[in-house]
Amino acid sequence: MNSQSTAPLKQLVLASNNPGKVAEINHLLDAQGYQISSQAEHHIDSIPETGLTFVENALLKARHVCVHSNTAALGDDSGLVVPALDGAPGLYSARYAGPRANASDNNQKLLQAMQSFQPDQRQASFICVLTLLRHSHDPEPVIAIGRWHGSIALQPAGEHGFGYDPLFIPHGYTQTAAELAPEHKQQISHRALALKSLLDQLSQ
Ligand code: IMP
Repeated sequence: MNSQSTAPLKQLVLASNNPGKVAEINHLLDAQGYQISSQAEHHIDSIPETGLTFVENALLKARHVCVHSNTAALGDDSGLVVPALDGAPGLYSARYAGPRANASDNNQKLLQAMQSFQPDQRQASFICVLTLLRHSHDPEPVIAIGRWHGSIALQPAGEHGFGYDPLFIPHGYTQTAAELAPEHKQQISHRALALKSLLDQLSQ
């Protein structure tokens, strides 16, 4: 037990400096009565993502923000997992083709790694993990996982989105995620699924 005072759960600091993500999560949680502020608004630096799983990284980020803001914090980590590549790009999705790689470099490296793959080896999932810590010593974080299943295209297509969207064809679709309207992606993506699970758990 600790005697630390905790802020009401309705106020959350999001442990991310990615403005797109903050806006997307803010939009969905705001409608449920949660007040979200970003890590940047609290002048909190990022920490190295040293975990070996998405859950560990999301918890590390949330705990770091809790410690520095003394407020409940929501951590997130996400990436693309290709089972036929033993889970790569996985935790290293942002820097798959090297520390300075951009999305196009990462997509090219992925296509190259999969060039001899049969259709059934092209299965892939985007994963998003959200972890909510009520305070920095919270022994029982809320952990929500969203998995968006699909497959990897033979070549990039589409102008919307970011990261691996031009290569990811969601199950049930013939276009890539980058060809979907952004509002549509926002409703069906791994982040939307993780947020839905988070809200379900919070309402219980
Ligand atoms: P992070 O959660 O910001 O660390 O994201 C890691 C990386 O995963 C991103 O830089 C992208 O390469 C990839 N990623 C995560 N979510 C998406 C998505 O919705 N579309 C495309 N790529 C994504």
